[in-house]
Order: sequence, then C-alpha cells, then structure tokens
Amino acid sequence: MDIVAEGIDNHGLAKSRKERDQMVIDLLQTVGLQQEHANRFPHEFSGGQRQRVGIARALALNPDFIIADEPISALDVSIQAQVINLFQDLQKERGLTYLFIAHDLSMIKHISDRVGVMYLGSLVELTTSDEIFAHPLHPYTQAMFSAIPLADPDLENSHQRIMLHGSIPSPVNLGPGCRFAGRCPYATDRCRQESPEFKEVAPGHFVACHQVG
Ligand code: SF4
Repeated sequence: MDIVAEGIDNHGLAKSRKERDQMVIDLLQTVGLQQEHANRFPHEFSGGQRQRVGIARALALNPDFIIADEPISALDVSIQAQVINLFQDLQKERGLTYLFIAHDLSMIKHISDRVGVMYLGSLVELTTSDEIFAHPLHPYTQAMFSAIPLADPDLENSHQRIMLHGSIPSPVNLGPGCRFAGRCPYATDRCRQESPEFKEVAPGHFVACHQVG
C-alpha cells in the first residue's frame, strides 16, 4: 500500500489516513487489482501485477502525461497484451497522453499515434505511426524496419533486409557530422563533416539526413 501511496503522501493529497487508504484501494481497482493486494509485499506479485502497481503509482497524482520507459519489455507476450490494453483503456477514460520508450516495433505500431526514432541520443525521424511504417525515410529507420519478420512466408523470402556494418561510436566521444555516418550505406564526405539538420521534409514528417528532402 505504501508504494502506491507515496505520491499521495508526498503531495499531501489525503486529509486523513482513512482517505489515503481508500485512494490507494481505488487506484488498485482502477488498474485491475483488488483491495487485498494493498497488503502484499513486492515479491508476492507477478510481473504483470507489478506493472499494474507501477501504473497505479503513476495515476496517483492524476497526471495528464505519463512517460513509460520500456513498460512491457520484461513481460510474457500474453501479459504484454493485457498491460497494453490497460494503458489504452486508461487513455480513453482519462484523456492521457503517453510517451512510450520501447524497442518492440509491433507494439509501437499498435499503440502509437506518432513515432520518433532515436539514434545515439538524437532524434533522427518523427512523424505519424502510419506514415513512418509506410514510408520510413531515414536510413537508420529503413534498416531497422527491414528487420521486422513478415508473417507471409512468400513475402518473407523475397524481403530485402538492410544489413548495417561498422560499429556504433561512443556517445561520449562523437566526432563531427552525422552520428550514423559510420554505418550508413549512403554516407558521403559531407555526412562525415556536417551534422544534418532535423527538418520537416513533408507535412508533419521530420528527418535528420542530408540525403532526404
Ligand atoms: S546524413 Fe548521411 S550518413 Fe547520416 S543518415 Fe543521412 S545519408 Fe546517412
């Protein structure tokens, strides 16, 4: 109970102990847990239940915006779907905005309205989810998406994968130019000398690449 109540306590949101405890029970029920879960220790929860407790903690302050950093990466696939459904239900009920940080491309496609792709700490492409999966423009995005397995065996067999070579530079010792230049199949001398501007190349579609737009 205390871990869910932390935000309530720190911000003095409850006028009494009774009100605080009731707020915790309401939050647990909002995320699909029961009153009895309030008295359990962390090791008594499954992975999915722990994620639900984490979401309850985030909801305690009635936020408009939640940053979820790899919220399902440690969960079984069946539990992932349950947690994603919970996120989506809460979004509809409470009008929430999420920033999801994730590597699971199918989950990203399923849940996102807009997608930003980062490489070595920099945003290299940003647009709507539909647009980025239909027309990825940055060479890193194209290579990453080309690695997605296809369900149709015929398509999968004819599918061209973009293989990247070269090593990822140290993020603490970056040279001039584009951060992707050492691995990019389209890199030129300009790429190695001049950092590309993050610019809008089509309405709402932003890319950082000298060769695009
Ligand atoms: S700026 Fe050059 S190196 Fe960087 S992604 Fe574009 S083509 Fe590749």
